[in-house]
Amino acid sequence: MSPSLSRPTRRPERLLILGSVLTALLIVAIVAVLLIREHASTLQTAKRTANNITQLIDADVLRNAELYDMALKGLIAATERNDLHSVSAEIRHLVLFDRSAAAPYKGDILLLDANGEVIADSSLLAPKAGNFADRDYFQAHRKKPDIGLYISRPFMARCVCDDQWRIAFSRRISGPDGRFQGVAVASMRLSYFHQLFSSLNIGSNSTINLINQQGILLAQYPLLELDMIDKDLSQRPNVARMLKERDGSFRGISSVDHQERLYTFSSVGDLPLIVAVALSTDDIFAQWKRAALLISLATGVLCIGLLWLSWMLSKELRRRHRAEQVLSELAATDALTGLANRRTLDQRLRQEWDRAQRSTEPLTLLMIDVDHFKAFNDRHGHHGGDAALRTVAQVIEDNIRRPADLAARYGGEEFAVVLPHTDAKGAWVIAEHIRSSVEHLPRVAGAERPITVSIGMSTWDKRSRMSLEALLLSADQALYEAKHSGRNRIVDTATLQAG
Ligand code: GH3
Ligand code: MG
Ligand code: MG
Repeated sequence: MSPSLSRPTRRPERLLILGSVLTALLIVAIVAVLLIREHASTLQTAKRTANNITQLIDADVLRNAELYDMALKGLIAATERNDLHSVSAEIRHLVLFDRSAAAPYKGDILLLDANGEVIADSSLLAPKAGNFADRDYFQAHRKKPDIGLYISRPFMARCVCDDQWRIAFSRRISGPDGRFQGVAVASMRLSYFHQLFSSLNIGSNSTINLINQQGILLAQYPLLELDMIDKDLSQRPNVARMLKERDGSFRGISSVDHQERLYTFSSVGDLPLIVAVALSTDDIFAQWKRAALLISLATGVLCIGLLWLSWMLSKELRRRHRAEQVLSELAATDALTGLANRRTLDQRLRQEWDRAQRSTEPLTLLMIDVDHFKAFNDRHGHHGGDAALRTVAQVIEDNIRRPADLAARYGGEEFAVVLPHTDAKGAWVIAEHIRSSVEHLPRVAGAERPITVSIGMSTWDKRSRMSLEALLLSADQALYEAKHSGRNRIVDTATLQAG
């Protein structure tokens, strides 16, 4: 058995690795939290921006709708004047359409009778014949007297003047008895919205949309598809949600180009219109993504560097520990035989002695001396003597089994064996094994006699009042007796005393 050496603990290296792994995890966690917060704040800023845009559009559309409404109300008020038939056509035209000049992107303002026939036209003194009874606004006013200001679906003008989309603002004209007498209608070119929306910088993949209460798209900038205007989008999930909630913000995938967008939307005053700003989340988070990538890379490099340094440091610590272990083993071991040396023997014997005193378990000490070794040395040389000592040491080592047992080189050709928890009877068996094993070793070539050992044995138990020194001395005396009485034998102190 090799001498019991305090095994250097690996805890410092483990602590170092654990500490740096935890530090790396902490750094990653902090960076992750900061990035998540930055992500949330970027989204918040985008929502605020989109909200400001919808408010701006709301205000502008509302102001224009009021201008149109004013013109329509003026026209209706003028139709109720009884003196209008007595004036010239020019004067009547001026009176009817005097409030209509201010609205931008305005098309014609028309006065339709109960059959949808044009009876006055803001652009012509003598109106062109035409019937608009099939238009949605005409039918809506005819059916419902209290509909107020009506905003139509987009349509193309019937004249060949242009091919621009328009919508119409209209009001019903009712007689004194409430009967339907016709409709006052003003059209507006949808290029107004195009102009308004394009003046706002929203990023390349984002859109601004205007839809009516039925989910019909009135305007979109930029147009995602060419035939989008007048399309019924009410069945699309994002539009359905906007129609339901009327005001708010959410993230959704566009069913047109399958891109994710942040939809921020609000109703335009009391009008049946909803403005929706759809900002591309790719645009919103582009800068954040770049920063996040850079920060993540830097953090990754930092953490890997930290872990690598810790790993290198722990390798160095391990190397040092191993070197220390080897040194301390060397300091505790006898160089020739590999058994514990005298210093270790003294330490362990003192420890086991103290333990035996506490536990009152017996403790046996064997002193072993090679017989006639001087002569062996003289015959086989120092080298041969050393080899024999190593062999004897191996035999002694092979015959002790328990972890607490210790074999040591006491000095020269003398060995000591400490056998804790072992009484005289048990120790005798071990001593006899050692003695007979040495005796039966293969004989060295040219040797006169086999190598033999004499063993002195002394046991401390709870009945004896021996000190440690007395134990050593008595084992030594027993060895002397073994030599004296013929060698190659075991003498137990107890037998000595009994004798
Ligand atoms: P006894 O049977 O009475 O023990 O006789 P002995 O010759 O063994 O006793 P003695 O103490 O007179 O001789 C011990 C010899 O052991 C002396 C020395 O030459 C030899 N010796 C001691 N240490 C070593 C060693 O490390 N290597 C070698 N080769 N021989 C050693
Ligand atoms: Mg000797
Ligand atoms: Mg000897």
